[in-house]
Amino acid sequence: MTDPTTLEAWRVRDFLTSQPGVRIVPHDGPALVIAGEFELDAQYGDRRIRDRYNLELTVPPEFPRILPSVRETGGRVPYDFHRYEGGELCLGIDVRLHLLIRGSPDLPTFFAECVVPYLYGFSHREQKGRLPFDELEHGYEGMVCDLRSILKVDNEAACMHMMRLAGTQRRKANHERCPCGSGKRVGSCHNRILNEIRASYGRMSCRSLYENLKAHRIRKKLVRERHEKELRRYMRHVA
Ligand SMILES: [Zn+2]
Ligand SMILES: [Zn+2]
Repeated sequence: MTDPTTLEAWRVRDFLTSQPGVRIVPHDGPALVIAGEFELDAQYGDRRIRDRYNLELTVPPEFPRILPSVRETGGRVPYDFHRYEGGELCLGIDVRLHLLIRGSPDLPTFFAECVVPYLYGFSHREQKGRLPFDELEHGYEGMVCDLRSILKVDNEAACMHMMRLAGTQRRKANHERCPCGSGKRVGSCHNRILNEIRASYGRMSCRSLYENLKAHRIRKKLVRERHEKELRRYMRHVA
């Protein structure tokens, strides 16, 4: 059971009032599950879309530090659209989602900022055959691409070092030279976005994202080297 203070902080009552077709689903376990028919009424650019989706939101007790997971239960969103293996909707990378809700980390904001754009995009795609905005690649490349746009840097290595700095204490990080290549210290360069990420996503999460990026880059390098070696061997062989 989620306690009343938490429900209030998450603005659950406001959320339920704004979505009359949904309710709290009783279940075992510490998460708060909200399910039913959700109304979508959104406009980006000049196109307004109204639609309905059957969804199940699972809000972990650690919210907003850990974000809710969302499933579409009406059988409308196919497996090859943005969905994770377990069936959850791929709403975007956590760094961005945390930034989107940092102003008011509650349920109505999460839904409006993170879920509505996804549903709008899907409805738009059903109606028009394409997404209304640029589609991010699913997986690692998409993540790096989105990180680059959030951090406004042009390469993967810079993203990785930025995440290392976001995972470092602010005072310490600000003294380092900024990975963007400006030649300035972080404190008078990328400090604002790094502070926002550190505060919304959490220093430890930044740290582990940095470790993942690093591991992935090392793995990529090893694969590349192995291919080069194989290629050299092959060239000797055919010579
Ligand atoms: Zn995706
Ligand atoms: Zn910079």
